[in-house]
Amino acid sequence: MARIVIVSNRVPSPNERGPRAGGLAVGLADALKDGGLWFGWSGEIAKTSRSEVKRVEADGITYATIDLCQEDYDRFYVGFANSTLWPLLHFRLGLIDFKREDLEGYIEVNRTYAAALALELRPDDLVWIHDYHLIPLGQELRKLGVKNRLGFFLHIPFVPASLFTALPQGNQLLRAFCAYDVVGFQTDEHRRDFLDCIEQILGLKAESDGQVETSTGRMQAIANPIGIDARGFAALATKAERSPETQRLKASLVGRALVIGVDRLDYSKGLPNRFDAFGRLLNSFPEHRQKVSYLQIAARSREDVSEYQAIRRELDRKAGNINGRFAEFDWVPLRYMTRAVGRNTLAGFYRAARIGLVTPLRDGMNLVAKEFIAAQDDNDPGVLVLSRFAGAAEDLSEALIVNPFDPDEIAEAMHQALIMPLDERKDRMARLRGRVFTVTAEAYCREFLKALAA
Ligand code: UDP
Repeated sequence: MARIVIVSNRVPSPNERGPRAGGLAVGLADALKDGGLWFGWSGEIAKTSRSEVKRVEADGITYATIDLCQEDYDRFYVGFANSTLWPLLHFRLGLIDFKREDLEGYIEVNRTYAAALALELRPDDLVWIHDYHLIPLGQELRKLGVKNRLGFFLHIPFVPASLFTALPQGNQLLRAFCAYDVVGFQTDEHRRDFLDCIEQILGLKAESDGQVETSTGRMQAIANPIGIDARGFAALATKAERSPETQRLKASLVGRALVIGVDRLDYSKGLPNRFDAFGRLLNSFPEHRQKVSYLQIAARSREDVSEYQAIRRELDRKAGNINGRFAEFDWVPLRYMTRAVGRNTLAGFYRAARIGLVTPLRDGMNLVAKEFIAAQDDNDPGVLVLSRFAGAAEDLSEALIVNPFDPDEIAEAMHQALIMPLDERKDRMARLRGRVFTVTAEAYCREFLKALAA
């Protein structure tokens, strides 16, 4: 069997494979266990210039990492990847902060990675590259004469051509996609938007099965939704139910229904609207006052991008307003924390919750939605309120689907969830669980690698 080579912006450290690791790390580590290679950034900033590749072996997997220098980090990571591509591909043109030198830094870092990776590759390796930081990597590898099968998966959304054309030198980036044999998207909508761009902007013809004849060969665009290790997460949640943290949380609720939101503190997650929605719930449906507690975990992220500092200030203010307006001396309606919480603990919290609130303005998939479902108790499940603009909504139609731009609609869905009869909760959750236990991290890896090997 061919060796699998995974390339991602961040390489998990081998000891991150336990409960702290995300679904992807678990699914991929599984695909690599017969002696694969995982290559990418170490997460470290080197003091001087880019460093040599460092190698660690664990459980048959080779982890090969490279440090970035400060200038690379600023231009490649903070700059082009997170201040241009991230807002663009989340439909937020107004938040784009494009600089030509950032784009140059982005290409340069990809070129450096390609040079280092090319030395590691064997002729039959299947190379699977992940996410928006590394779009040009395949093209840079091809320039070095690499002939291996190359696959790319975009974890975030893709935009319609009318938005994509806002990207300066966007044609160059689209052409970079054409260096891959397989390009994967979370949903069929993203795949179709990508193929529209290929046709309208590059003038290439896309077949109905997503095949495109390029100047150098054939590229196929596929939709392949990512999943979680649902069994593993369900087991974690059952165990965590008895953990001291979950017990403390439950005791603090004194019988009130728990509404939970878990996100990175990111403007794509729709947190201000969600806070407004909770305020509307308490205002428009006063019967729920003192009967619910909303816990929002918003783990700080990308703090060196200015938009992330701005959203944090906005949320601090909104949280203060809601609690100032509705709190009683023995009830704080909104508990808002910006520290990250470990997945073991989260699993128990999800299981204790009556409502999982997942309302991003745009999201490639949203794994929290799937974790919430996997964690539920079949005999007394909670209700998922889910944005129609999360990739997860394509498959999870038994959630209460909302438009995240309308706080009143979210508030109505929360009200519906709070009064929903047990039979309906069970029925909806059973169907959702069927999906989440089928489209797993393992199935995602298997399907992508099958397409790549074809
Ligand atoms: N997560 C976590 N601790 C936190 C917040 C989030 O472990 O405090 C995890 C969460 O359980 C999920 C992931 O981070 O596995 C977030 O993935 P998602 O697809 O929802 O959003 P992303 O952050 O990738 O945009």
